[in-house]
Amino acid sequence: MMEKSAARLCLAADTEQKSQERKSAMTGIETRCIQGGYTPGNGEPRQIPIIQSTTFKYDTSEDMGKLFDLEASGYFYSRLQNPTCDLVAAKICSLEGGTAAMLTSSGQAANFYAVFNIANAGDHVVACSAIYGGTYNLFAVTMKKMGISFTFVSPDCTAEELDAAFQPNTKAVFGETIANPALCVLDIEMFAEAAHRHGVPLIVDNTFATPVNCRPFEWGADIVTHSTTKYMDGHGSAVGGCIVDSGRFDWTAEPDKFPGLTTPDESYHGVVYTERFGLGGAFITKATSQLMRDFGSIQSPQSAFLLNLGLESLHVRMQRHCENAQAVAEFLQKHEKVAWISYCGLPGDKYYERARKYLPNGSCGVVSFGVRGGRKAAEAFMKALKIAAIETHVADARTCCLHPASATHRQMNDEELRAAGVSPDLVRLSVGLESKEDLIADLDQALRSV
Ligand SMILES: *Cc1c(COP(=O)(O)O)cnc(C)c1O
Repeated sequence: MMEKSAARLCLAADTEQKSQERKSAMTGIETRCIQGGYTPGNGEPRQIPIIQSTTFKYDTSEDMGKLFDLEASGYFYSRLQNPTCDLVAAKICSLEGGTAAMLTSSGQAANFYAVFNIANAGDHVVACSAIYGGTYNLFAVTMKKMGISFTFVSPDCTAEELDAAFQPNTKAVFGETIANPALCVLDIEMFAEAAHRHGVPLIVDNTFATPVNCRPFEWGADIVTHSTTKYMDGHGSAVGGCIVDSGRFDWTAEPDKFPGLTTPDESYHGVVYTERFGLGGAFITKATSQLMRDFGSIQSPQSAFLLNLGLESLHVRMQRHCENAQAVAEFLQKHEKVAWISYCGLPGDKYYERARKYLPNGSCGVVSFGVRGGRKAAEAFMKALKIAAIETHVADARTCCLHPASATHRQMNDEELRAAGVSPDLVRLSVGLESKEDLIADLDQALRSV
């Protein structure tokens, strides 16, 4: 259900209201990938229009004043909200089964906003140690400078070890459904239960699984984030992020823990987000009216349009990414030049059972493995590839690979690398949508050349 929130999703909420019948007919994730979020009226554009406008026109100053006071719905400046972005956010909201969503300029911005919306200087966050290198840096270095402290726990910790990581000032728990690049599968239920025992929400970065393969809200997560740059866009064309709220976390149960949501915001004439926008709208409205207003990390309408094109085929592409990755993983597992392989779709993989529970239809197209001979052999192997390109990117229609220890994770020392599940010989292979026979032949010749 989309709450009628004054500041957020006004266009999306209106169209969803007009189309309740249509919405309830869209039960399948495939239908929502194609048609979710946007219902054109009679004679309106079939495709989501690109509203390439920084500003919006009003007849009276009074009309505009109401927007600034969060008393009326509407757009006024694209640093905070743009209709194209909101329609695409509404689609992702529908895919995840949330109550409100916002697009951001990047996945980094999404994770920063999701945490900073509830954690201030002096607060603490529990995070899984197996996370994206950029997110680790954001937390352990940049947000630490802002006075927020983090305790990193192993993805394989017990409930007791997880409990021990909490402090009285803990405000959230953070993890990735499938960790990039370690490919650990998060025990979402266990992390959600621990978070809730301590009165805080679980934030899950669902980038690698996408809502096609896992919907963390169904397992107890409260907030979901995405780097839409990856599978959602899927074509390496636009950097972006998204935050979705399940609307289920009760910020008012221990209101002193979340004063930003439960006490008056003086910068908006004393609005109390939970009172005005309800549990379904408070988190995203606050993130928009404070963080987007002050930091302005909004996605461009052009990028949101491209993202939506990606979303329209997400369900078809994810299936093929998983099918190709499974074939590649099975090939690599048997190869004499491969020291080890990590792919949760392989029986015997450390995360196979957990993946069967949380990702029964497939995980993602990313496979990690070590080339026999370590760092040097990994580099030689990558150089010999003809189809797979060396890129920082991942989760793209084109197969690409990366050596994290010398690229995305190079700021980490060996100990930090190990905690993040990244060994020095790890090659991250993002299996694309090409012919799996071609991909396997390419990998084979490159491995043989080492
Ligand atoms: C890439 C990535 C991010 C960062 O997203 P950007 O769009 O590059 O800012 C965050 N989390 C995960 C899991 C990622 O793979």
